[in-house]
Amino acid sequence: MDWNQFDAALAKCGAYTVYADSRAAAGQTLCAMVRSATDKKLAVAGETTGFSGERCGEVLLCPLSVENARVMMELFPYTKPCSHKNRRFTLGLGDRLGLATPGQLRAIAGYDVFPVLAQQSIRELNLTGRTFPEVIAAAAFGVFQAGYRDGYGADGDHLKTKDEIHYALESGCTMITLDCSAHINDQAAEYGPQERQQAYTALPADLRQKYESKYLNRALPIVGELDEAELQRIVLVFSKAIDHAIDCWNYIAQTAHHEVDFELSIDEARAVTAPAEHLVIAMELKDAGITPVSVAPHFTGEFEKGIEYQGNLDQFAADLTVHQQIADAFGYKLSLHSGSDKFSVFPTLHRITKGHVHVKTAGTNWLEAVRVMAKEDPALFREAFQYALAHRSEAAKYYHVTTDPATIHNIDLLSDVYLPELLDLPASRQLMHICYGVLLTQPWFHQRFFRLLHEKEACYYAGLEHHIGRHLLYLTAD
Ligand SMILES: [Zn+2]
Repeated sequence: MDWNQFDAALAKCGAYTVYADSRAAAGQTLCAMVRSATDKKLAVAGETTGFSGERCGEVLLCPLSVENARVMMELFPYTKPCSHKNRRFTLGLGDRLGLATPGQLRAIAGYDVFPVLAQQSIRELNLTGRTFPEVIAAAAFGVFQAGYRDGYGADGDHLKTKDEIHYALESGCTMITLDCSAHINDQAAEYGPQERQQAYTALPADLRQKYESKYLNRALPIVGELDEAELQRIVLVFSKAIDHAIDCWNYIAQTAHHEVDFELSIDEARAVTAPAEHLVIAMELKDAGITPVSVAPHFTGEFEKGIEYQGNLDQFAADLTVHQQIADAFGYKLSLHSGSDKFSVFPTLHRITKGHVHVKTAGTNWLEAVRVMAKEDPALFREAFQYALAHRSEAAKYYHVTTDPATIHNIDLLSDVYLPELLDLPASRQLMHICYGVLLTQPWFHQRFFRLLHEKEACYYAGLEHHIGRHLLYLTAD
């Protein structure tokens, strides 16, 4: 079968349009992504073994299921996530809807960046009612649709336990971001001298001995000498988290069947990460034989969801410079979380890391879909907005947000043309940013929203191309 025959056979199946860039052949199999007025399918002809779908003459019209994605990934390996070791600039692009990939890929065209297209935390999976295999399948189909062949990653983001890591690895995640926050003793950071001394003395003698012999009375790289009090504090706050990281790394090394990019994240610790803390963690990981691909410290300033950085940029630059020295010394890159819309820090980040960095964005991709709704279906947007406002406190439990809902405009007083602007004002932008789970788990919303995005797909892609493109512009500017 050739493509002319494929098109002729498909024409008999109804009103389907082929995504031209998706056409691909492997052996006797011809595959293309096709769309109708209501949905998308993978059209397969020739050898169709493994795929399941609806037979229409010589074409098999396959739903975009996890099972069909797995067959597609075997046939077309470029649709399967892969490791990004040795790539300088990597960008996490979460897609909570499973629709954003082709638009995100347009945004990165022309930039030397490796996209981590599938990136979800367990929290996001729960709030959107999705699974890791579904998230990866959606990215794979998006990659196929766009005909993109330069590789992408899949990040099991903010995983906290070995069970979660197991689930992510089995599902095909190529990156594991370990969140150690549950093992960080934030309270110990605030102990007074007496309390600290007491707590420290209560630790096992061999543990204390190990840290003291390695870190006291010597000049450490980058941070110089640590005094006893400082070391005690670091051991009290971080030693359990370090043990957990080593334990999880060993688990990955023993169980993963594919190459894994390991990130250690301490960005959700309460306190800003001090250079000495970062250094001790880096040295402990190194001595345990661990080379993370990236480490996410808690940087100075506020990185709140979906709005600009709040903090002192000079201080951020100074803080980043020291963390970068540590990352360079230990051979990994820094990772910046909650990177959505932090345009003011991007040039500094690029300059100090020399473009050797990982940045995560997620919510901003969902907000572009919300913007499509604000422009194209004002009635649905109004309903969604009011619903989000009424349920804001549920969503605010999961996210650190400080904007005041009392400052949000009364939407009933705004005419339709102004609705998109609500997504540019901090309090209403943050409201829609955090309420994705509240909304997506409502069937009335889910159905109408996905139908709209299918109809206005080009609009969503254009929005992503522009907005993620803007991130890239600032992330590659000095
Ligand atoms: Zn994080």
